[in-house]
Amino acid sequence: MQKKIGFIGLGIMGKPMAKNLIKAGYSLVVYDIVEDPVKELVELGAEAGESPKDVASKSDIVITMLPNSPHVKEVVLGENGVIEGAKEGLILVDMSSIAPIAAQEIAAAVKEKGIRMLDAPVSGGEPKAIDGTLSIMVGGDEETFKEVEDILKVMGSSAVLIGDVGSGNMTKLANQIIVALNIAAMSEAMVLATKAGVDPEKVYQAIRGGLAGSTVLDAKMPLVLERNFKPGFRIELHIKDLMNALDTGHGVDVPLPLTTQVLEMMYALKVDGKQGDDHGGLIQFFEKLANVEVKRQN
Ligand code: NAD
Repeated sequence: MQKKIGFIGLGIMGKPMAKNLIKAGYSLVVYDIVEDPVKELVELGAEAGESPKDVASKSDIVITMLPNSPHVKEVVLGENGVIEGAKEGLILVDMSSIAPIAAQEIAAAVKEKGIRMLDAPVSGGEPKAIDGTLSIMVGGDEETFKEVEDILKVMGSSAVLIGDVGSGNMTKLANQIIVALNIAAMSEAMVLATKAGVDPEKVYQAIRGGLAGSTVLDAKMPLVLERNFKPGFRIELHIKDLMNALDTGHGVDVPLPLTTQVLEMMYALKVDGKQGDDHGGLIQFFEKLANVEVKRQN
């Protein structure tokens, strides 16, 4: 019999991921504290759960896609949480990006009730969540991973088991450092070119096929040229990831000087009221320093 999937957290990422599972023929019970996305999924055939506990009681597998560690702890371990409704053997797949240590703590707490947990954060953003082509980085044991691999492959084009629980989020932190620093480098360079009187669109076209080309450049530069900072991935979520990176780094005695700098740039944008912008909006920090705007010319 096909496994029933609970899905909790239907935001920018969770909603399209859940939609893809429905399209692939899975039966879903869904929950979010916001009503609209729940209604949208019910129209597509999902059942609405009343609480994380209720979702868990009706599911063999529960997927969570929530903002950060405290939200996942509350939904899984809190009052009316997943742990209260889960049958023994349930698999919890947390796909949120949270602190690796929090993933390990949650896994240890649910293990006492016979719940198996994987941490499986994703990369690729909203477009890849919609296309079902996310990159999924998984921590946990291999047997549990094998049981849910087909389900993960509906949402992602790759799902790689990295190591024990927590290693999925460790990988995601590495990913987030690389993405943040790439956006900062792109921003600094494009502000320089623009203020020096060179068309940034032509700079982008000229360099995108060379060594400076990157997925980040191709995803973010067209949006910058259109001055489109609609998220996507909000600056406040990237601040959360970089804070988790610093905590994790300091926990294992690794200084992160570049991450710290970009975190402070993002923080300055937050103070400026831009925390809801896409992280590509980081360029606005560099634009303010140089008093210039990078945009499509003519
Ligand atoms: P989001 O804020 O759009 O969605 C989070 C959802 O969780 C919201 O619908 C919110 O109502 C719900 N929620 C919050 N607390 C809840 C609770 N207690 N019970 C039930 N639902 C609750 O965020 P998002 O952009 O979808 O990101 C989700 C996770 O995925 C984050 O950890 C983020 O870092 C990560 N991520 C996001 C992107 C992206 O491009 N947006 C890409 C990769 C990874």
